[in-house]
Amino acid sequence: MSFDAGAIRAQFPIFAHRSSGFHYLDSAATGQICRPAAEALLAFETENRANVKRSIYPLAEAATEAFDQARAALAAYLGVADPDEVIVTSGTTLGINLFAHAFGQSLAEGDEVVLSELEHHSNIVPWQLLRERQGIVLKVLPVTAEGRLDLEQLERVVTGRCRLIALTHASNVTGAVTEVGRIVEAARAVGARVLLDGAQRAPHGPLDLPALGVDAYALSGHKMFGPTGAGALWVRRELLDALPPFLGGGEMISRVTFAATSYAAAPHRFEAGTPPIGAAIGMAAAAGWLAGLDWQAAARHELRLTERILDGLGQLPGIRILGPAGLQGRIGVISFEAEGAHAHDLCHLLGAQGVCLRGGHHCAQPLMDAFGLVATARASLAPYNDDADVDALLTGLEQALALLR
Ligand code: PMP
Repeated sequence: MSFDAGAIRAQFPIFAHRSSGFHYLDSAATGQICRPAAEALLAFETENRANVKRSIYPLAEAATEAFDQARAALAAYLGVADPDEVIVTSGTTLGINLFAHAFGQSLAEGDEVVLSELEHHSNIVPWQLLRERQGIVLKVLPVTAEGRLDLEQLERVVTGRCRLIALTHASNVTGAVTEVGRIVEAARAVGARVLLDGAQRAPHGPLDLPALGVDAYALSGHKMFGPTGAGALWVRRELLDALPPFLGGGEMISRVTFAATSYAAAPHRFEAGTPPIGAAIGMAAAAGWLAGLDWQAAARHELRLTERILDGLGQLPGIRILGPAGLQGRIGVISFEAEGAHAHDLCHLLGAQGVCLRGGHHCAQPLMDAFGLVATARASLAPYNDDADVDALLTGLEQALALLR
């Protein structure tokens, strides 16, 4: 059965507000918001708005219940049985910083954290800050020429001093999906933990995090077709209970005196202050919407469009694709460099034709360095994309290249 991208588009309000010449190919940066998420956000903010975990009048109790249900819905999307293992954050960046701070306190000088050349700055800089504070050592797993993690180097990079392997689950530049099993095996062999940056993988269908074998997982709601402003960090219970708080403030405490403060249990210990309530409720609605999609059909659809883009790029002269040439183990994120044409110029010219691409270093400068590049253009797909988007991209690119070269 063919996938009906038109029926998906009908569930995204933005497409009703834009002319037919709108081709959104930047979902790896931010997905568009689906109607269930927009409606849940609006309903909370306009009809049911009150702070959570505080007051006991009915409106506030209902808000708290809606927030708890959002946590539960997100946990279900992640395959997590206990919703209290899910911390509501503002996004992947906060999730990783929180984990780096909290888990980092158990690390000693000389302990090693393994990252990779494929990482987004969000999964590099928090560890560098920790290195400055605590003298940990950062080890870096290289990428292959295809833009995948070079797992043949695992044995060399993961030593007996390794305490954590922190890697992306899917690359925001090359689209490569990480073979998690081999990573977990390598970590377990030395007693290390595994954190995945799930920003790019989470929008591509429900997960089973406990079965994946990792210990922590960070994601962003806005990339999952939810509102901006909310995300989540899942941490396996036995590790979560051992983590100290990161931010201090209201609602993360048990008792405060000027002499000493004791902290609430997880997840509240990690949710200081008013959380992004409406955005979290919207994110959960988006997760519910995502869980209801036929993911075999959606993935086939995205990969068919990916293949069309890869083939089309292959027919244009002087194009270098940064990422797997085939469709195995990849998502619909396609980065490329065009000889004689800067990515920003390409994106500018295509943007004028309604084709939304990202151009730049994609917050992955070490990866750009590894490939000897400064910037690439990137097209990224979601279930609402269709053949017209691919046609507009390829035609627009041909015209832009003719103009720039
Ligand atoms: N990691 C990856 C792989 C990403 O693609 C992004 C967003 N570009 C992030 C982390 C950061 O996400 P956010 O800005 O939503 O915190």
